[in-house]
Amino acid sequence: MLINIPQPDFDIGIIGGGPAGSSLAAYLAKAGISCVLFERETFPRPHVGESLVPAANRVLQELGLLEQMEAAKFPRKYGSAWTSVTSKKIYSHDFEGLPLDCRGDIRFDEREMQGDRNYTYHVDRAKFDHLLLQHARKLGATVYEGVRVNRVDFPKDDFPRIVISSEEQEVVKSVR
Ligand SMILES: Cc1cc2nc3c(=O)[nH]c(=O)nc-3n(C[C@H](O)[C@H](O)[C@H](O)COP(=O)(O)OP(=O)(O)OC[C@H]3O[C@@H](n4cnc5c(N)ncnc54)[C@H](O)[C@@H]3O)c2cc1C
Repeated sequence: MLINIPQPDFDIGIIGGGPAGSSLAAYLAKAGISCVLFERETFPRPHVGESLVPAANRVLQELGLLEQMEAAKFPRKYGSAWTSVTSKKIYSHDFEGLPLDCRGDIRFDEREMQGDRNYTYHVDRAKFDHLLLQHARKLGATVYEGVRVNRVDFPKDDFPRIVISSEEQEVVKSVR
């Protein structure tokens, strides 16, 4: 006897289209895994957190985004400095217990860097997040903007359900 088991709409559901959500969606789509991402805002939207760390380069490279980062002309960042108004002293060991009168700085090329460049970027988050989200979509992720996740239900005998709303309408999507 053949039993018809209903399939979920997607394998993975992602809530939020910031850098974490959209990078995850891009990685999954690239690996051929079906995923859906819900973002409550419509991009581009403003956000704090503009100063990328060098570790971001590996992700950008793996997702094939470095060329677009260059094309976007984000200012390049070759190092970081932690300063204090009270002293010009250089802080020269680890960053444990950094006192107020110290200064610490680092040039990225003094350290081992992941990837082929000795800099990272200072980004406009509205532009950067939009670029990442569009990239995830381009790689095959299903992306909804202007859609808020209200809750996730875990019924006993069925797939988890993400309950979303958009313009006062509530919809249900199931995920594996
Ligand atoms: C003042 C400040 C300064 C910072 N400076 C730096 C910095 O210089 N460098 C740095 O690397 N980091 C910085 N950060 C941290 C950085 O902003 C975060 O690490 C980064 O934004 C986290 O990314 P994310 O994708 O996890 O979350 P977010 O970027 O916050 O994205 C979450 C997304 O989820 C969406 N969302 C939330 N709830 C729902 C829902 N129910 N349904 C649908 N969508 C939803 C939101 O609209 C949002 O777009 C700073 C943070 C603060 C607060």
